[in-house]
Amino acid sequence: MEIITVKDKQFKPFISEAELRDAIGQVAQKINNDYQGKSPLFLGVLNGSFMFFSDLLKGIDLVCEVSFVKLASYEGTSSTGKVEELIGLNEDLTGRDIILVEDIVDTGNTLEKLYQMLLDKNPASIKIATLLFKPEAYHKTYPIDYVGKEIPNAFVLGFGLDYDGLARNLSSIYVLNE
Ligand code: 5GP
Repeated sequence: MEIITVKDKQFKPFISEAELRDAIGQVAQKINNDYQGKSPLFLGVLNGSFMFFSDLLKGIDLVCEVSFVKLASYEGTSSTGKVEELIGLNEDLTGRDIILVEDIVDTGNTLEKLYQMLLDKNPASIKIATLLFKPEAYHKTYPIDYVGKEIPNAFVLGFGLDYDGLARNLSSIYVLNE
């Protein structure tokens, strides 16, 4: 078994390229069925979703649009504390069917912020597609509409997911070797 080292930690193989391909293909099929006759806007959440986004979209046979957003956080004034801002969105979302594409949903905190920010822009609908989902860690109530794979509560990397900015380029998923 191929163990890899990234900085100070070791990771072992967890989800193979073939498994990822199957899981992503199934998500694409479900979306194709659910959105027949519609023209959704796929919104990828950077940086982590870039590989999933690309593979997913190759399996989509709808006439659709793609765009990317990023959640940037910075220190506000002492009264506002940490401020989060949605950057990169140029499209008018009014009346659009949005499919938010995430790398991983863990506690759901990030998703909640994104969801609320998008809701403020009056779309017709918002659905969530995520490559990985940690049901044991999730403590929100938003339905996760499309899940590539459910995983246990462990730290994973590769296929877009990083450890301290590194290893996003790995073509399969690894898990922390503890
Ligand atoms: P949440 O807000 O749902 O707790 O976490 C979402 C974000 O945390 C993800 O978009 C991702 O950036 C990061 N994250 C959560 N779990 C993992 C993990 O197992 N591995 C990596 N690399 N990032 C994770």
